Amino acid sequence: MPAISIFTQVKASLEELDVTLVAVSKTQSNVHIMRRYELGQRIFGENRVQELAQKQATLPKDIIWHQIGHLQTNKVKVIAPFIALIHAGDSLKILRKINDEALRCNRIIDVLLQAKVAQEDAKFGFDLVELANEALLKEIAALPNVQICGLMGMASFVADEEQIKLEFRTLKNLFDTLKDSHHFNQESFQFLSMGMSGDYALAISEGSNMVRIGSLIF
Ligand SMILES: *Cc1c(COP(=O)(O)O)cnc(C)c1O
Repeated sequence: MPAISIFTQVKASLEELDVTLVAVSKTQSNVHIMRRYELGQRIFGENRVQELAQKQATLPKDIIWHQIGHLQTNKVKVIAPFIALIHAGDSLKILRKINDEALRCNRIIDVLLQAKVAQEDAKFGFDLVELANEALLKEIAALPNVQICGLMGMASFVADEEQIKLEFRTLKNLFDTLKDSHHFNQESFQFLSMGMSGDYALAISEGSNMVRIGSLIF
């Protein structure tokens, strides 16, 4: 089936489920992005800052851009003026930097905390101990120009569905615990970003309400 038909089907089925689709457009040309834009897609995700800035400058201004991959501190200023949501809030250092750059732009930037639950040696994200650390959570919540809007995570890149399911379940439990902890604004803390092309159905069955899908729909 052509990718554009798969895109249309995936988009419709996610709308039905009330799950937000982040169309991951990294490495895709403006032409490919525009075909999906014309079919109603507005949220696009990128993981490279230069590519993101270039696309933001040339594509329609009502596109809602998400930063999905690990972000280096020295690159934050490039996206701070326009980024709608940063999924990779993976360290206190980057959150502080986002806060500084948001302040400079006179903005409050929406960010997800990235949790590290995968078995394989995932490099980025807060581990379970950190996400239970009251002092750390208070420090994050006190950053005035960062709004924590939920949690993002990735499952291990393995074939074992049971392991993937358990990791998604761990992320959902963490999300619920953090939401109930009242550290973060209750209305804003609403997104659980988990699931990619290969595992998004499983992620949704485990409680995801935001999926980041690239290769399947492009
Ligand atoms: C590339 C990427 C995706 C999308 O992956 P696909 O397998 O192409 O759907 C999702 N999340 C992150 C963080 C990515 O870098």
